Amino acid sequence: MKAEIISIGTEILLGQTLDTNSSYLSRKLAEIGIDVHYHITAGDNKNRLCDSIKAALQRSDIAITTGGLGPTIDDITLNAIAEVAEKPLILKKEIIRLIEHHFKTRSIKMPKNNIKQAYVPKGAIWLKNLTGTAPGLIVEIYKKHLIALPGPPREMIPMFEKYIIPYLEKFRVKKSVILSRTLKTTGLSESQLHNKIAAFLRLSGSTTVGIYARPSQVDLKITAKAADPALAKKQIGIIEGKIRKKINKLIYGADDQKLEQVVAGLMGPSTISIAESCTGGLISSRLTDIPGISKNLLFSIIAYSDRSKKELLSISPGLLKRHGAVSTVIARHMADNIRRIAKSDIGISTTGIAGPAGATHKKPIGLVYIGLSTGKQTIVRKFNFTGSRDIIKFRTSQAALDMLRKFLLK
Ligand code: AMP
Ligand code: MG
Repeated sequence: MKAEIISIGTEILLGQTLDTNSSYLSRKLAEIGIDVHYHITAGDNKNRLCDSIKAALQRSDIAITTGGLGPTIDDITLNAIAEVAEKPLILKKEIIRLIEHHFKTRSIKMPKNNIKQAYVPKGAIWLKNLTGTAPGLIVEIYKKHLIALPGPPREMIPMFEKYIIPYLEKFRVKKSVILSRTLKTTGLSESQLHNKIAAFLRLSGSTTVGIYARPSQVDLKITAKAADPALAKKQIGIIEGKIRKKINKLIYGADDQKLEQVVAGLMGPSTISIAESCTGGLISSRLTDIPGISKNLLFSIIAYSDRSKKELLSISPGLLKRHGAVSTVIARHMADNIRRIAKSDIGISTTGIAGPAGATHKKPIGLVYIGLSTGKQTIVRKFNFTGSRDIIKFRTSQAALDMLRKFLLK
């Protein structure tokens, strides 16, 4: 079965509303083995919408529209569907009652416009909206399935899950599912990672591997198409095992796992303290997103100014003057001193130039030092990050958390 998704709304065409409905529907349809071949975005214009619906139904078995079912004058989906289906719109008393009830429970008098939402093309199946007023529709046109859903995700998603998935499952001829698993890495660029696992990126057939770069993170997505979920998971597991054999240490987590979550999970009874300069508390903020971290995280200091480095972290003024705040020496002392002051097992420090100002010939924007002190040894790593101020801060927090992760893995 092939499907197309039509997002309706001029605000989407203008880039003012992000089309999250298409991405949600594509993911869900893949899970039940329906291939999505096109995403169409149509503005609130009846002729162009009719053309889009006709084109989709000529090419594919299923067309799913979202949006344009509201009560206002720019909502034209119902009229467009009735025109393509060549059916009159019939007023449904039952829908009026549902809409009236919706407003009554909110102590609001039903606005007259909402009557518009009680019309249904003759012969169509209409679907109760559990979280709003616009009903959904299933209409047979050219012996294909046209499904119309409301635009707001909080109305569209429950309707899709309750009615559309069971409806579509009945028509699936050859049952198959598509499942994915994402392996997350940080520290290497997309091309560096590509070189390490190039052979997997050329896989063809029912299991494939894709590479997706984001700032300070490169994801590997393994996707398998199989007759049932267990088989798809097995295929994914085989490829994952082979990839892990090559780059296991680089993979910090999978799917929805966050780096800070993984780090927190590895901490065990170890205690940690953090002295942050250029990250301004970002590392501490990310770690404190994880419940239970209070047993590990003893001290966090934002030592942004030179004075705070001297007064809170006992960095000697002479050293600061000689090396400058952004230096290996200062990163080392910050990590050692915070560890000693907090009496923790591990001390972490960051110092760097996040830009856009503050760079010198010798110390460019993006120059960052991260220190990790453990009592036995102190490691300082130098980085040259690129990007805007917020990206450099994020990359620094990412690198610091990954240094910590690798240390805890040992
Ligand atoms: P509509 O039903 O077209 O009046 O849309 C109502 C609201 O739903 C819009 O203002 C958006 O906030 C939201 N919406 C509509 N279409 C989408 C879409 N494709 N993705 C995400 N949100 C949407
Ligand atoms: Mg609209």
